[in-house]
Amino acid sequence: LLSARGLSRSFGELPVFAGVDLDVRDGEILAVLGRSGSGKSSLLRCLAGLLDPTAGTVTYRGAVLSGSNPGTATVFQNVALLPWQTVWQNVELGLRARRVPARVRAAAVRAAIGLIGLDGFESAYPRELSGGMRQRVGFARALVVEPDVLLMDEPFSALDVLTAENLRGELLELWASGEFPTRALVLVTHDLAEAVQLADRVLVLDSAPGGTVRAAFDVPLPRPRLTDDPAYRELV
Ligand code: ATP
Ligand code: MG
Repeated sequence: LLSARGLSRSFGELPVFAGVDLDVRDGEILAVLGRSGSGKSSLLRCLAGLLDPTAGTVTYRGAVLSGSNPGTATVFQNVALLPWQTVWQNVELGLRARRVPARVRAAAVRAAIGLIGLDGFESAYPRELSGGMRQRVGFARALVVEPDVLLMDEPFSALDVLTAENLRGELLELWASGEFPTRALVLVTHDLAEAVQLADRVLVLDSAPGGTVRAAFDVPLPRPRLTDDPAYRELV
């Protein structure tokens, strides 16, 4: 669905990662694990087309990417919500940017808000929300464009453990139920337990400067996977 070959990025003289090969497969949750500073956010931004790699390519549905990736949306590490806009308006942003007509926008925002548990908070302003609710807005804002691949940059790291655990559980449930309007998830995290809990597959980024993918492994999980569902198989 989405892949990288020989992907490298430096800032000035400093290489962050080099020669990264990865594939995001249809129907999977892929975790990218790495220490602070190992280049996880930079890698994710390259996949989203928000940051140009120094070398290598990102391919989305067979086409080499230049500029922002039309098939991805990102949940950022620090939800940057517009403080003077309501929850509804913040969620709507991505659709306005994509010039979606107003009627279609309203239906999509409604659906995203319902899906992610923000019903009743439409006219609240970000400052009135808890951190957990703010991150829900971050999720809704990304999901509203129904991206093929949802990129998540440590979406739970700013939340307290209980809130994070709740949100992780809900995310997994939604994903397993097939209600998620995306085909694959990429989760960047420094939390091994989180990666194992959520992901089908884990890539480990080397923390040495200029490091690459050091290990890739499948997480054996008892939970049902979307890709194992006969109905899903029939679709793809
Ligand atoms: P964290 O876990 O703290 O979020 P990370 O794995 O996401 O870290 P990155 O944010 O990708 O790591 O940063 C990797 C390295 O690249 C760091 O050393 C950082 O200082 C550097 N870096 C990132 N963005 C820039 C930038 N715009 N200009 C210069 N250096 C940068
Ligand atoms: Mg980061």
